[in-house]
Amino acid sequence: MRCVTAPVIGVLALQGDVREHLTALTDVGAQARPVRRAAELDAVDGLVIPGGESTTISKLVDIFELREPIDKRIAAGLPVYGSCAGMIMLAQEVLDGRPDQRGFDGITMTVRRNAFGRQVDSFEAPVEITGIDGGPLHAVFIRAPWVERVGAGVEVLGTVTEGPAAGRVVAVRQGNLLATSFHPELTRDLRLHRYFVDLVRT
Ligand code: GLN
Repeated sequence: MRCVTAPVIGVLALQGDVREHLTALTDVGAQARPVRRAAELDAVDGLVIPGGESTTISKLVDIFELREPIDKRIAAGLPVYGSCAGMIMLAQEVLDGRPDQRGFDGITMTVRRNAFGRQVDSFEAPVEITGIDGGPLHAVFIRAPWVERVGAGVEVLGTVTEGPAAGRVVAVRQGNLLATSFHPELTRDLRLHRYFVDLVRT
């Protein structure tokens, strides 16, 4: 892996909150670029898969012929961070998904789509993340998945600490792959993006 001070980090720009991730990544010192083509993917040191709608992202990944190139880069160790729909795209197994949706060859985990249910479709909660100092993140959840099961080698980084969803796993890491149920790109707290950029730099 290249060791660079301002790594080039792509944001998969097919659907979802692409702009917010580009801004957050730029603010923490990365060279942030949208990725829609395989040639653009070739040029990145890390990739973010944004929140949005995983069923739509899954379809567009095939239309833009990015599935195989992304799977190959993941297998070769590319650092990837997925938030919300991006977490779903990084999960090896999805519950309550559409039968035709497919993720990448990513984290050994099972996630449940739209897991928090209608009552708590969108909510905010403090989440303490292992490896991130300075107190809990103010996490924003929007029709979010949670992690139901993790395989060997997956580190649980964060769980919900209060409310009806207390104890639910919402942040994980497996090697160079990082995923959160929530959307740090929608807050002004840049610590999660800084954590990912540091992961890309090492
Ligand atoms: N519910 C969405 C999905 O299934 C994810 C929502 C989000 O990314 N905010 O992809």
